[in-house]
Amino acid sequence: MSLRVLPKAALPAWVDQLCAGHRVAGPKPLHGQHIFGEIHSSSELELGYPTTVIPPKKYLFPQVEELFSFRKDTGEITPKLDARPTVVLGVHTCDLHAMHLLDRVFQNGYTDQHYQAHRENTLVVSIECLVPCMEHSFCKSMGTLSATDGFDLHLTDLGEEYAVDVDTERGARLLEGFAPARPATEDDYHRVNRVMSEKWPRFPLRLDFDVTELPSLLSVSYDSKLWDELGERCLACAMCTNVCPTCYCFNVADEVDLTLNAGRRLRMWDSCQLDKFASVAGGHDFRKTRARRQRHRFFRKGKYQTDAFGLLGCVGCGRCAQACLVNITPVDTFNALYHRQTQNTQAEVRP
Ligand code: SF4
Ligand code: SF4
Repeated sequence: MSLRVLPKAALPAWVDQLCAGHRVAGPKPLHGQHIFGEIHSSSELELGYPTTVIPPKKYLFPQVEELFSFRKDTGEITPKLDARPTVVLGVHTCDLHAMHLLDRVFQNGYTDQHYQAHRENTLVVSIECLVPCMEHSFCKSMGTLSATDGFDLHLTDLGEEYAVDVDTERGARLLEGFAPARPATEDDYHRVNRVMSEKWPRFPLRLDFDVTELPSLLSVSYDSKLWDELGERCLACAMCTNVCPTCYCFNVADEVDLTLNAGRRLRMWDSCQLDKFASVAGGHDFRKTRARRQRHRFFRKGKYQTDAFGLLGCVGCGRCAQACLVNITPVDTFNALYHRQTQNTQAEVRP
């Protein structure tokens, strides 16, 4: 839509202004790591964060959410939709791509009202990554190193100033009346282009093949012995799925009060890596072994989501690799499958 320029020295005043009128969330330090959490003043925000443990998807799809409450005596059912106006600041582009996938999942066919309520009331202010955020990220290989849409405002660090890409009307309203934000000049556009072209060589390509080959690579790897090897190592702890910005499996449970008259229905994140996740009535478990669950996870990331929604299910954020206690990573897994297929060898996945 338009480009504006915001002096860095004015950012705290702008963030404080946002905090006065909205629930604002952003990256902030906690116990030596970073999380997305609510901030009440600019002093809490740390935009130069490496990555966060849990992605910002929790503002669209909370870890636990009440769907509705009910009463037996009156037969009343009251839906609960969270429509708090929220601004999420400092979203990395990999997480933007993940939100794009979640949009397709929750708004495909039957729209999920709860997701929709969060989405419509959440403004996203993203930020361009100019250096890799951590050793495990592989966003360049997954095509998520940049984003052209999916945000309301997008910040690019120009040194003493931020270029602010204004992509929506409601994004423009966040800057409305904030005097230090000026329209960009031609020179500013050149500065943005220079910063963007300089950043590319800083990011390594970590997949040994082009990512467009990933769905077909998986198709021919269904019976690979690699899945058994990963199953031997996997602890079934579900950390990899808990931290993943594209995982969206959930469970639903009713919580009833002690009178058995009233209660509420909750949904909460679930994980395909947990024992019994795929158990059905009659006792059959479709993915009883860890090997099958690992295979399912990586097929979801590299093939099933592409088949269903036209987007890869992995955005290369590296969080799962960071979280896994036994070093099972998407990069090592996909590269091992590739080398086994192309060289017909049993290439090792690094333990
Ligand atoms: S984090 Fe690692 S050990 Fe835990 S379920 Fe995922 S792959 Fe298995
Ligand atoms: S699979 Fe791992 S690297 Fe890929 S999006 Fe999920 S957490 Fe990030």
